[in-house]
Amino acid sequence: MMGDVREERDVTRLPRDDRAGHGTGGSDAPCLPHLSHSGGVPESDWARAVELIRSADEIALACHVSPDGDALGSMLAAGLAMRALGKRVVASFGDRRFEVPRLLRFLPGQELLVEPARYPEAPALMITFDASTSARLGLLGDSAAKAAELIVVDHHPSNSGFGTMALIDPGAAATAMLVEELIDRLGVPLDRDIATGLYAGLVTDTGSFRHSSTSPAAHAMAARLVATGLRTDEIARELWDRSPFGYLKVLGAALERVHLEPEAAGGLGLVWTYVPRVDRAAYGLPYDEVEGMIDIVRRTDEAEVAIVLKEDDEGAWQVSTRSKGAVDVARVCAALGGGGHVRAAGFTSHRPVAETMADIRALLTPA
Ligand code: 5GP
Ligand code: MN
Repeated sequence: MMGDVREERDVTRLPRDDRAGHGTGGSDAPCLPHLSHSGGVPESDWARAVELIRSADEIALACHVSPDGDALGSMLAAGLAMRALGKRVVASFGDRRFEVPRLLRFLPGQELLVEPARYPEAPALMITFDASTSARLGLLGDSAAKAAELIVVDHHPSNSGFGTMALIDPGAAATAMLVEELIDRLGVPLDRDIATGLYAGLVTDTGSFRHSSTSPAAHAMAARLVATGLRTDEIARELWDRSPFGYLKVLGAALERVHLEPEAAGGLGLVWTYVPRVDRAAYGLPYDEVEGMIDIVRRTDEAEVAIVLKEDDEGAWQVSTRSKGAVDVARVCAALGGGGHVRAAGFTSHRPVAETMADIRALLTPA
């Protein structure tokens, strides 16, 4: 798969032959950092996963509930690659209201999606993407429990260790990075559709290459993806630069009630607000439209920690937390039944906003 003669500008052909255990080197072709960014997954696990996939006829894919760009993009990219290998592929996520978020509808491969009710009850081979616990699979958790083989592809340090085998690398900036390597190891070339899903995952989880997770390997992967001809401008617009008018009104109301608590988090400061469902209802605004509001609130200079509580259509509060690195919000969220990363984590609360905030304040201490 690695041609020795590479056209200088064709980064899709840049070397990948220096995977763990294959450090051949010796090429003076222009070299991007290799695909195995951290060696987080043992070679034997990659080999076993490839064998399981190659020998399967049907493969059932799942990503976490309320999928984001990394969850859905990784899953659909993997699904398209496995379909290219001749596999029957079904893909889903276990939300009660099964609907692809508006901002992810541009992702290729949606024809692979089936509702949770039509998902195999006991798949021979199931693969999960970006889910750190089986609870994050929602309605598909039962299928995962009954799957003969369950491969867990993830990059959350808090991953609980479910499944019959793991492709987990907490050093990867996105699950999409692991999926790119898996696709390469399956011998499927990147096409523009596959690359679009992977790129959506990469830019979502690196915050467009702004977050601390943005490694050289993340940029190198982006180069390979962009070289397939995908439209970075159109993807960015779909993901971040459009919304219904009602979003501005709901955002306005949330910003009206934003609180700054300089004494919180050991004096490092907390900024927070909330979005009740009645605000959204007034403008017919779907829940997923407010998911990104945390990115506005977290810019506050005076606060180490930012929180947005969003009431979903069932009346539960989905809590997004962010820190600038001095507070481990994954620890805070894990203590409240959720999880995530040091600087970006979440959980679900069924209690009133004031009580949830009191719980959080009590846990907010500098690392
Ligand atoms: P967000 O605030 O963007 O929804 O989530 C931030 C991070 O926290 C993501 O990595 C996401 O996977 C994780 N996360 C959000 N909600 C939950 C949750 O309820 N449980 C767990 N385990 N992780 C969550
Ligand atoms: Mn992710």
